[in-house]
Amino acid sequence: MMLPTHALVGLALATPVAVARPSLATPLLAGALAGSVLPDLDVVARHRRTLHYPTGYVVAAVPIAAVAVVATSPATVALAAGTVAAAVHCRMDRYGGSYEFRPWERKSDRAVYDHVRGRWRRAKRWTRYDGAPEDLLVAIAAGLPLLVVLDGPFRQLAAGTLAIAVVYTAFRRRLSDLAGGAFRRMRDGAKRLRVGCQR
Ligand SMILES: [Zn+2]
Repeated sequence: MMLPTHALVGLALATPVAVARPSLATPLLAGALAGSVLPDLDVVARHRRTLHYPTGYVVAAVPIAAVAVVATSPATVALAAGTVAAAVHCRMDRYGGSYEFRPWERKSDRAVYDHVRGRWRRAKRWTRYDGAPEDLLVAIAAGLPLLVVLDGPFRQLAAGTLAIAVVYTAFRRRLSDLAGGAFRRMRDGAKRLRVGCQR
């Protein structure tokens, strides 16, 4: 699923706890936001593999959440919220589309890498690809309640993230075409340069 959906779902999961414990709302929401975004930072490395741990985050979340309950502090609740959000992120990627340049073409079944089993988990495609209309629906379902319940910077953040989700969904396929065209031009330019150097 697209990054805005991950961010909004992460915030939505932390919000009930934040409402129950207002004094911890900021570390809870900030931790959840960071954890929901963190796995996708591997887009500059091996995407959906380097920072995606569908089993590891779940295993880590249990003791970390227990520590946050026993020794409650801004740091422990932020870490617990972040780990849970990262675990949910990896699960959501499994239910989304495959990891490929144009996922609507379904040339790959790879959803997220399972480091424990040493293989890729198959995409379930409950949402067909990141930026699909149904992906936007998930973002809206998670995001709209946040606009009512939250206030201050996190409310503004949720509103901005929802706006990005709408724009990304509107241009998702065109962005792929533009990026593909730019890649082909770079590749052809590099080829011409190599041929020129060999002459
Ligand atoms: Zn991801």
